[in-house]
Amino acid sequence: MKQIGCKKCGHKLILGTAWITEIEPDSEPYESGVEEEIDTIDCDVCFCLHYCPKCKIIHDLWDDDRDHLIGNV
Ligand SMILES: [Zn+2]
Repeated sequence: MKQIGCKKCGHKLILGTAWITEIEPDSEPYESGVEEEIDTIDCDVCFCLHYCPKCKIIHDLWDDDRDHLIGNV
């Protein structure tokens, strides 16, 4: 397997997982000044990520279940 390094500092990236257990919806998601009443959502979502401990930056984030790339910072 190819060793992945940080694009900024070259440090070896950590391959890890992150859990999201709570989503707090924006109170004005559609129109500024119009508040929607949405409760905080409990969830159980796992993401995989590449993280540089030196720069404290997440480089890649993807959904473990669907293998879907969410973002590339
Ligand atoms: Zn780095």
